[in-house]
Amino acid sequence: MGIYIDTDNCTGCKLCLQACPYGAIIVEEGKARFTEDCTSCGACVSACPVDAIVMEVVRAAEVDTSQYRGIWVIAEVQDGHLAEVSLELLGKGRELAESLDVPVTLVLPGDDVAELATVAGQHGADEVYLVEHEHLAQYRTGPYTNVICGLINKHKPEIVLIGATLQGRDLASRIAARIGAGLTADCTGLEIDTDERLLRQTRPAFGGNIMATILCRQARPQMATVRPKVMKKLEPQDGSQPEIISIPVSLDPKSIATKIVEIIREEQEQTVNLQDADIIVSGGRGLKAPENFALIRELAEVLSGAVGASRATVDAGWIPAYHQVGQTGKTVHPRLYIACGISGAVQHLAGMSTSDCIVAINTDPHAPIFDVATYGIVGDLFEVVPVLTEAVKKEFGKS
Ligand SMILES: Cc1cc2nc3c(=O)[nH]c(=O)nc-3n(C[C@H](O)[C@H](O)[C@H](O)COP(=O)(O)OP(=O)(O)OC[C@H]3O[C@@H](n4cnc5c(N)ncnc54)[C@H](O)[C@@H]3O)c2cc1C
Repeated sequence: MGIYIDTDNCTGCKLCLQACPYGAIIVEEGKARFTEDCTSCGACVSACPVDAIVMEVVRAAEVDTSQYRGIWVIAEVQDGHLAEVSLELLGKGRELAESLDVPVTLVLPGDDVAELATVAGQHGADEVYLVEHEHLAQYRTGPYTNVICGLINKHKPEIVLIGATLQGRDLASRIAARIGAGLTADCTGLEIDTDERLLRQTRPAFGGNIMATILCRQARPQMATVRPKVMKKLEPQDGSQPEIISIPVSLDPKSIATKIVEIIREEQEQTVNLQDADIIVSGGRGLKAPENFALIRELAEVLSGAVGASRATVDAGWIPAYHQVGQTGKTVHPRLYIACGISGAVQHLAGMSTSDCIVAINTDPHAPIFDVATYGIVGDLFEVVPVLTEAVKKEFGKS
């Protein structure tokens, strides 16, 4: 990655100074010049009105991969806490780092987030790049991309992991495009090929019909996004204190194209928090009609669980899409998953097969859901579910 200023075109207008998050441009004798603090993050390129700043993306085949070392997780902060997916990625990062004998680094952008570094240390981070600034308090694509690209160009990690959340999907693709790296989205498995020091990135492909393992041989870093609940976080280790490296940045609001006016949260009814639920009762086409989801809701309620659904029922308009579990729905990892009248198509299994205990209720003894079930009940859900609901009520004294 190289960046230079075409001094013949530069007019010395100074707009690039506002755009640079690292304060690494000065104007002397009417021409802009990079100082040694330049990280080649590229934030100034689009700020230049006369195209005098030129970014050269090194072709993948020309990247010296031996210069890249270490595993990075890009943190997501939600309501003042590290998102669960960031902790899960630290756990996975720790495992990968042991195969490569490198440290795990958390990049933590935000405002007033220093105390989260300790949490990161307890969950597997050896070091934390702490990037605090008032304009990083809420996620915005531009400043986050600029700051993180600068850090990647300067410190050259070999692997960068990001949560496949709304924020993470937006950020990861921007970073990968800016720095010319490969990116595998929605990985369900990550492991190291120690012979070649490559990240083996596994994800469903061709509509979930095969699991593809993807290698990024030439470009660096190797970037992957992973959905929440796919990896497991480590048990917190009290007393593990990471090294904290504070990164000073200067962000001028005039150089940030977007402004957050208001944050509107989803209505409670719509935030079926499937991904955090310990117990999920899901219904499929075996329910035969939308009103029969009442059976599923009742069992979920007595178990204090959440209601899930197969895509077939969502597509039929029986239940809103935010209940959908699976490849194009949510990935869940509850302690107990009860699948009622769900056949167990590969796309459904992609979202729930790592649940700790799976109970399947289906009239067809050959339904694929039984291949992943811990307990299988071959029977009519209209008979089995009410009996289960009554039994739970009796056991837990709920009426
Ligand atoms: C690109 C792509 C992405 C997809 N993403 C998803 C996804 O994210 N999530 C998802 O779920 N699907 C997804 N699908 C759809 C998936 O392929 C299946 O079509 C869907 O999961 C089937 O839903 P189902 O099990 O409810 O219905 P069916 O496959 O019709 O199964 C109904 C089951 O109910 C049983 N049954 C019938 N009556 C009773 C009864 N009285 N009691 C008990 N059991 C009974 C039947 O034996 C049957 O096994 C995707 C498909 C594609 C192509």
